[in-house]
Amino acid sequence: MTKIDIVLPEKIFAGTRATLEKEFAPHFLAEAADREALIAQIAPRVRAIARGNHIAIDRALIDRFPNLEIISVFGVGYDGVDVAYARERGLVVTNTPDVLNEEVADYTIGLLVMTARELLRAERYLRDGSWARLGQFAPVPGSLRDRTVGMVGLGRIGLAIARRLEAMRIPVVYHARHARAGVAYRYYASLLEMAADVDTLIVAVPGGAATRHLVDAEILAALGRRGLVINIGRGSAIDEEALIRALETHALQGAGLDVFATEPAIDPRFLALDNVVLLPHSGSASQVTHGAMGQLLVDNLKSWFSSGRPLTPVPETPWPRV
Ligand code: NDP
Repeated sequence: MTKIDIVLPEKIFAGTRATLEKEFAPHFLAEAADREALIAQIAPRVRAIARGNHIAIDRALIDRFPNLEIISVFGVGYDGVDVAYARERGLVVTNTPDVLNEEVADYTIGLLVMTARELLRAERYLRDGSWARLGQFAPVPGSLRDRTVGMVGLGRIGLAIARRLEAMRIPVVYHARHARAGVAYRYYASLLEMAADVDTLIVAVPGGAATRHLVDAEILAALGRRGLVINIGRGSAIDEEALIRALETHALQGAGLDVFATEPAIDPRFLALDNVVLLPHSGSASQVTHGAMGQLLVDNLKSWFSSGRPLTPVPETPWPRV
């Protein structure tokens, strides 16, 4: 049977690539000697785009493929995909929710502890011989024992983080556009009010226009000097200018960031600061979890082409269509 042509604009997890090669006829734009020539050659045959986690799938790219039916995204965030245009074109966009919740939540707790307790500095203290030379590592000002965490976003991942915090006996409250049914955490309709009541924010919202600079100078000021900001959602949700200024002037105690406004070339001013922990957007990046995400990407494509039904369409392109 002829395999269905799909296009991959960027690199994808190796295990997923192998599965795609078995099931479909994938074309890898990033590896083409002449990208344009490859697109021109395959365009009419391409029925799906399999997206990694980073490259923009904009109107211009979508329009290159007149017979496109589905865009299957590796990852839960899809702010880089022009879903409004995809919808207009009658396409389905799918992502890989839930299979990464626990992995990202584990990682977020790690980032929080690293940031509050300055674990990187402590490790450097041992490695550079300071412990043996100078004695005990001095107690750090940060602790989780006296904190309340305000979750910015209490969705699938936010809830998995909150449950871990609860087990750590850290009080949790949250802000989102809607109160979530079935949770006992206090809900704040106003992020500013929440920021004034807590000292730690964990940002777990999607990117895009609606959340752009949700955490701005005013929110950071409300957190105060003991404030910690952890961001595993999207870099665009924080006003980085305001964050850098707050960190530079110690108007904030610290930050732990997995995501940035510009990736992978982050604002170089972050690198000069020692009150921020910087991670390379790898919240879900374990082999087991990337394997599960890749499998769901593939399963969405297989389900679409065999039964005409996507498994996990994003809300903007619901199925059945409305
Ligand atoms: P969900 O859609 O389940 O949750 C999103 C949460 O954000 C909800 O509580 C939602 O509540 C809230 N929210 C959305 N828009 C706004 C807004 N404008 N203002 C306030 N709150 C808002 O998503 P997931 O939990 O599955 O994933 C969250 C995000 O985490 C992803 O979109 C992705 O960007 C990021 N992510 C990062 C990873 C990493 O490696 N660092 C890995 C995986 C995901 P409500 O609708 O009521 O506002």
